[in-house]
Amino acid sequence: MKLTDKLQQSQSTLFSIEILPPLKGKSIQSIYDSIDPLMEFKPAFVDVTYHREEYIYKKRSGGYLEKVSIRKRPGTVGICAAIMNKYDVEAVPHIICGGFTQEETENALIDLQFLGIDNVLALRGDSIKTEPAFVPEPGGHAYALDLVKQIHAMNNGHYLDDDMKDAAPTNFCMGVAGYPEKHFEAPNMVSDLKYLKEKVDAGASYIVTQMFFDNNKYFEFVELCRKNGINVPIIPGLKILSTKKQITTLPKVFHIDIPNDFYEALTTCKDDAAIKKVGIEWCIQQSKELVKANVPCLHFYTMGASESTKAVAKEVF
Ligand code: FAD
Repeated sequence: MKLTDKLQQSQSTLFSIEILPPLKGKSIQSIYDSIDPLMEFKPAFVDVTYHREEYIYKKRSGGYLEKVSIRKRPGTVGICAAIMNKYDVEAVPHIICGGFTQEETENALIDLQFLGIDNVLALRGDSIKTEPAFVPEPGGHAYALDLVKQIHAMNNGHYLDDDMKDAAPTNFCMGVAGYPEKHFEAPNMVSDLKYLKEKVDAGASYIVTQMFFDNNKYFEFVELCRKNGINVPIIPGLKILSTKKQITTLPKVFHIDIPNDFYEALTTCKDDAAIKKVGIEWCIQQSKELVKANVPCLHFYTMGASESTKAVAKEVF
C-alpha cells in the first residue's frame, strides 16, 4: 500500500521507524530483536537504510597495502522482503544515487517491484568516507532529483531502453529527504527549498525530515515549504539522544543544532544512563507537541535502540 494512502486514511498521527541493516556477519535475528518490541505500536512503515561501499587498506604479505572495497551493512532489500513477510508491515528501502549506474538502479527497482514493495525513499547518498565530496557513479545520478525522475519515468512505463515496447509501468510511491536546518552543502535555505520543490514536482509525494531537536525548526520549515508551493506531507524525523558522545557527533554528522536548554540538561548528567533518561524525556516532549500540531507521522531513527523508542512511544501513542 502506498504510504500517501496510509497517511491520508489516518485520522491521527502515525508511528514509523527507521532501521539499519546489521553489520555484515550478523544474522537477521538482530533486526527482529529490534523490531519486535515496537510492533505493539503498529508502525505504519519501517524504513531500511542503504549503506554504500567503503574503502579500507589491508596489509598484505611483503608489507604493501591493498585498497579493498567493502560493504559493512549490505542487505537492505532482503531485510525489506523479510520484514514484510514476517510482520505484514510496509517496508521502505532507501535507494541512493551513489555507487549505482542508471541501469543498476533500474534493475534494483525491478527487483523491488517484483517483491511487492510499493514505497521507496529516493536519496542522493553521502560521499564515501575517503572522498571529500559526493562523486556520482559514471553513468549514475548526481542528485536525488535525477533519481526521482527515473523512478517517475518507470512509473509511466518508460525504461532506459527507448526501444522497449509495452513495458509494465512500476507503481512506486516516492519519498525524499528534507532538511529543517538546511542541507549542509546548500548555500542557503532558499536554494535548498528550490531543489526540494523540484523533487516534489518531479514525482515525490512525501518528505521525511532530517532529525531535529527543536520543534520550531520543523514548524518553520513546514511553513516555508508551504509558502514555496511544496504541499506534500512532511514527516518529522526524531532521534532519541542517548549517549554523551552523541552530544558532539550528532551535530557534526547530521549538521543539526542541539537547543541550549537541552544541551544544559545533558551536560549535568553524570553518565550515559542519565543522558538516556534526559534524551527520552526530551523526545517525549517533542513528540507530544508534534502530535498536538497534527503532524502526519512521527518517524523514529531507532538505530537499533528499540528500548528508548518504546519508552517514548508508550507515552505518546
Ligand atoms: P539531494 O536532494 O540531491 O540534495 C543534495 C544537495 O544538493 C543539497 O544541498 C541540495 O540543495 C543540492 N541540490 C539538489 N539538487 C540540485 C541540483 N539539481 N543542482 C544543484 N544542487 C542541487 N544516506 C545514505 O547514504 N543512505 C541512507 O539510507 C540515507 N537515508 C536518509 C534518510 C533521511 C530521511 C535523510 C534526511 C537522509 C538520509 N541519508 C542517507 C543522507 C543523505 O543521503 C544525505 O543527506 C545526502 O547528502 C543528501 O541526500 P539528498 O537526497 O537530500 O540529496
